[in-house]
Amino acid sequence: VKILLLLLILGTAHAICIHEKLLSPEQIQQLINENNEQIFINLAGKFKLATESRIKALNYRQKFLVHLSPKSFRQKSNKTEVPYYYFEDMNKYYKKIKSHLATNNYSLEKIGTSIKGKDLHVIKPNSLDPLKKTIVMLGRQHGDESTQNWIIEGFLDTVFMGKNKFLKDFQVIAFPMINPDGADAVSRYNSNDYDLNRSWHKDLDKAKDEAKIILDHLYSLNFQNLDIKVFLDMHGSFTEDFIYRVDKDFKDKNFFSAQQTFIDTLGKYDPFQNGYSETSNGAGTMSRIVMIKSFNLNAITHETPRRMKETDSYYRSVSDLKKQGEALVETISEIY
Ligand SMILES: [Zn+2]
Repeated sequence: VKILLLLLILGTAHAICIHEKLLSPEQIQQLINENNEQIFINLAGKFKLATESRIKALNYRQKFLVHLSPKSFRQKSNKTEVPYYYFEDMNKYYKKIKSHLATNNYSLEKIGTSIKGKDLHVIKPNSLDPLKKTIVMLGRQHGDESTQNWIIEGFLDTVFMGKNKFLKDFQVIAFPMINPDGADAVSRYNSNDYDLNRSWHKDLDKAKDEAKIILDHLYSLNFQNLDIKVFLDMHGSFTEDFIYRVDKDFKDKNFFSAQQTFIDTLGKYDPFQNGYSETSNGAGTMSRIVMIKSFNLNAITHETPRRMKETDSYYRSVSDLKKQGEALVETISEIY
């Protein structure tokens, strides 16, 4: 039993932009008393804020998967930090880029709505070319990871308005904001309390909410038959920039070294990423892991600190963040 428990803890210990732990109700209460972090308890797949009454209702002999996040990450932004990116900012950006998309025979298409009724969009070519090198980008699965949308703007600016002739060789399918409800609520989760990056499954029936809408759309594009070079999932960490990749034995040596090449090349163009990586085989319901396991894609997770105050050592400006998006275009151009 002890070994099983240990395996269970190890199996859920990988953290992607959240600290995950298996804790007893007593341990959860202790953490609340320490009062530094907000704690969400996984109750039948939904993440509920740990309140005293909820904790009292838990079986004291059981351990529960919890997510811990500093309280400050859920506050509205203030003047001394990189502006927090809301759904409204996304829509402003769509207005700005729309004519540039049209010039390049691309369009912005509504593919569904969030639980609270906000539009979900994809940016894609008017007609997909199955022979063209393809990049897929997911943005903002976790609503409170705000900085990634500035990076995504930089990426899209470079692709559609830059001097780089990227679209001669490549085509892009981008879902810039998957969790607009979470973005506006400054919450990791969607409006049904699901962690969308634990809500993926190759069987559409088992995928949830907004993740299901995105996957459904990918299937409608026959994405399995496209020549996808890299599948980028854009996230926000606590304090560091890095790329999440799988370990050497997850697939094979070639796959591992292909991911290493991406990490090293990005490090040349992006001084913040600087070649940093973390190895994590993740949870089976993360988009990155589903894309690697079920579709054999080179999927990676891009992490940049989600909130940045001027006093933070990792602080940078919005224009620096946009340059990180430009660095992705340079990296892809060089490798593929
Ligand atoms: Zn995340």
